[in-house]
Amino acid sequence: MKCVICKQGEVAPGTATVTLRRGECILIFKDVPAEVCDSCAEYFLSEAVTEKLLQRAEAAIQSGAELEIVRFSPTGRLGSLWGSRDIGEWRNALACYWNRIKPENLELERFMNTLDPEYIENLNARDWYVFLHDKYFPWKYTRHHWLEANKQHLEEYETTNRLEELLTIKERLLSFDLADIRQGLEIAESVKGLGPAGASGLLAVLFPKWFGTADQFVVKTLTQVESLPERSQILEMRPKALTRQDAVLLIEIMRKRAQELNVLCGTDEWTPRKIDMILWAHRCAPS
Ligand SMILES: [Zn+2]
Repeated sequence: MKCVICKQGEVAPGTATVTLRRGECILIFKDVPAEVCDSCAEYFLSEAVTEKLLQRAEAAIQSGAELEIVRFSPTGRLGSLWGSRDIGEWRNALACYWNRIKPENLELERFMNTLDPEYIENLNARDWYVFLHDKYFPWKYTRHHWLEANKQHLEEYETTNRLEELLTIKERLLSFDLADIRQGLEIAESVKGLGPAGASGLLAVLFPKWFGTADQFVVKTLTQVESLPERSQILEMRPKALTRQDAVLLIEIMRKRAQELNVLCGTDEWTPRKIDMILWAHRCAPS
């Protein structure tokens, strides 16, 4: 087909880089499937692709992004990011996390993100209980009914005078072999009110270099990654009723990815916790 712009070149299927500008927001889409002219490089998008670009643009504008570079993928943003060796893209993806935190939750989020194990170590029985009750549980359980239900279990320590028992769990949490995912989960799950997801989140804020949160969001987002070797196991998981075994596998996947990124960029900046932040931020990506 002749190009309608230059009227000389031939148009053939290829990919294009598309830049969209809306007000203050600039979006750059890479690898967009398009018909491309071999002479003037003008590109032509199908209606379906155009629609997808506009949807993504809308999502970026809503998140308040000023500049976003997105590798276009018909299966969702994470599907293409996961295999990417472009560290800039991963850093952008991580930045999206902070854009998705509600302003009223930012303070608690920052606190959790810079938690010092020494601070936890120094908490006495009551302060440790208060930390879990007033900080960790509200941070992890953002839905009101989950928070109330799980807090009720935790409150049993106080109403039955068993705060010392809770303190013992903290001591075990601060002394197990961090490489042992299963053991970490087992200890954290012994806190009343924490299932595998809640336990993994606690480990992730305490030991971000070793653990990531294994919850329903992580599972749903990982299903976008068609190239994942563990995909069939992910698809069999019940996102809202994860088992300890599921959580172990999910944390292993996050550890592996973080490690690969660190090798790629020669640093130790990537952690399973950061991978879980990216997975959370990319939940419900338009598909
Ligand atoms: Zn042309």
